[in-house]
Amino acid sequence: MTSRTPLTTPSPSPLADDADAARRREEAVALAGDLLRVDSTNGNETAVAEVLAEYLAGAGVQAELVARDERRANLLARIPGTGGGPSLAFVGHSDVVPADARDWTHPPFSGDVDDDGYLWGRGAVDMKNEVAARTAAMASLARQGWQGTGDLLLVVVADEEDGAAWVGMNWLVQERPDIRTDFALNEGGGIAFTLADGRHLTEISVGEKGTAPVRVDAIGEAGHASTPTLGDNPVPRLAALLARLGRGEAEPLDHPQVRVMLDTLLGAGAVDRLGLAEAIRQGGLLHPDLATSLPAVAGTTLTPTLLHGAAARNVIPARAGVTLDCRILPGTTEEEVLAAVRRRLGDDIAYELSLPEPPNPGNYSTSKGPLWDVVQRFADERLRTTLFPTLCSGFTDSVYLRREHGTVAYGFSPFATTPAAVIDAGYHNKDERVHVDDIALSADFHVYAAAALLG
Ligand SMILES: [Zn+2]
Repeated sequence: MTSRTPLTTPSPSPLADDADAARRREEAVALAGDLLRVDSTNGNETAVAEVLAEYLAGAGVQAELVARDERRANLLARIPGTGGGPSLAFVGHSDVVPADARDWTHPPFSGDVDDDGYLWGRGAVDMKNEVAARTAAMASLARQGWQGTGDLLLVVVADEEDGAAWVGMNWLVQERPDIRTDFALNEGGGIAFTLADGRHLTEISVGEKGTAPVRVDAIGEAGHASTPTLGDNPVPRLAALLARLGRGEAEPLDHPQVRVMLDTLLGAGAVDRLGLAEAIRQGGLLHPDLATSLPAVAGTTLTPTLLHGAAARNVIPARAGVTLDCRILPGTTEEEVLAAVRRRLGDDIAYELSLPEPPNPGNYSTSKGPLWDVVQRFADERLRTTLFPTLCSGFTDSVYLRREHGTVAYGFSPFATTPAAVIDAGYHNKDERVHVDDIALSADFHVYAAAALLG
């Protein structure tokens, strides 16, 4: 459950006089509703960019639409700095995953606000809420005539959910090197939870795991299925290998970021004190979500998913295989993944390993430095929580920002009212919704972060 923290400080901003706060909060919520009413199911993102550009123009910010495919434009906006200071990008994506209206309590593109203050729609938590908050924060700063020492950018991209069309961030980082910033705030964090020992933590995503799928083929001898003892059927052999893979649970890995997570949960030096496996186990006891997420994040997962057999029913195949969805910590090599698979399989059954696609490595940013300090200060003052630096087991566009530009990129947008269970249940699912207070809070946070970091 989320800890509900009363918001006692009237002005969240280090700006001397944050006269625009009330208007900003209202506009953030209204803009989120407008964005939810645009159906940008992976495609049609230009319509979202146009809503944002028109809104920003009202605050005197000239946005630019940059498109490789005219239906799928990305939006860039900038408040130039006076020079000499660090630069910061507010990042988001404008596409959403499909929604089947038959399953929803409120239609997925309605942008309804219910009596309890929840805003409903596909993208309410992933991530038109954050896009609206970041855009309203930039507009608010512009209206107040604010200028940082470094540039403040807003980068809202298409095609994050799929990425295959190469029109969103993966294309933009190459096409427009001028979007490079020292720091970035993107999706992936901000959910608060209370540990079994009473401590309040708020997640901040500092990195992403990568993927390195592996295919395992049991080797046999092809033959006619009518005479099962003639060939050497690899299918039963695959069954034995599958049993050894089990559910593909991760092998724990002593990784610097895993140590940071365990230190936050269990105190400094947790791994040296307890041993890695025991530290992960004790960390899992602190919250039911950690019991599943911590072991998965803290190593290489080897999850069997796709099965491959004969092309026809009457053929005993020469090979029968399984593809493993493997998620790797940043820095884990192809050889290390293959070695982990071999350890599970043993050496008494004939099999071969192959890589069905090239590994896509993840990366992460340091959990210290100026942006970290700013977020931690906001968490202390406004949320009264400690930051918990997690790695995302999925994927976000922050990977490209770190890889191409060396940007320190975090996933963070604070939630103080929407329960974690509601947020988690809504991701890519029916009835996605967010409390409007969290959109307003996020707009406040982004003004705070820009003003504190860029001066
Ligand atoms: Zn997303």
